[in-house]
Amino acid sequence: MIACKSTSELALMREAGRITARALRAVGDAVAIGVTTAELDEVAVEVIRAAGARAAFKGYQGFPATICASLNSEVVHGIPGRRKLAEGDVVSVDVGAVIDGYFGDSARTFPVGRVSDEATRLLTATRESLEAGIACCWPGMRLGDIGAAVQAVAEGAGFSVVREYVGHGIGRAMHEEPQVPNYGTPGKGQVLLAGMVIAIEPMVNAGKADVRQLKDGWTVVTADGSLSAHFEHTVAITHDGPMVLTME
Ligand code: MG
Ligand code: MG
Repeated sequence: MIACKSTSELALMREAGRITARALRAVGDAVAIGVTTAELDEVAVEVIRAAGARAAFKGYQGFPATICASLNSEVVHGIPGRRKLAEGDVVSVDVGAVIDGYFGDSARTFPVGRVSDEATRLLTATRESLEAGIACCWPGMRLGDIGAAVQAVAEGAGFSVVREYVGHGIGRAMHEEPQVPNYGTPGKGQVLLAGMVIAIEPMVNAGKADVRQLKDGWTVVTADGSLSAHFEHTVAITHDGPMVLTME
């Protein structure tokens, strides 16, 4: 069952998205050599609290923090801690905020200082793959169109798309129907309807697509140790086309 949102619900989701975007930007502004991922988490805590919102991830299935902070070969769900960012790292930050019962969810991978050419190309390709997916968010298009568009950009740049973790519907819960894979076949899958809201979130690896989970029960890493990047926006499908909700 896919819930389509009314205009008034979309306005509430826009506010959740705005706060989420503000938190993510503030974390990005704080990314620097020597900063710990726990300190990045604190930045997001403060922004979300100041907006009168609630952190979406904290306590979600027991997750202990407000952001996920995933370094280098970590794909998603990294737990913030005492590790310091170092020159050449890439750090993927995922954050969600809830206000008036509606959720926003967004992620971005930030370079730390000067990074390798491969890392730069990976971040660019992953961001562009998200943009290609967003461009498919029109009524009448299908989930397979989004997945195929994301996949084409990521693989076209020589990288691979993670299969085990996917995007999702979002609204009064962080994870609603449908699942939104980052791969697919054009013209296949669920038809997009005006009022649907989805989180599109390509996870792209510089090496092979395979991933595994660490013993902490959360952190997902690339199986081959290659770099990974993650970009995500919460997007509404409207008659006027894609409306990105997680923007300031
Ligand atoms: Mg997210
Ligand atoms: Mg998500």
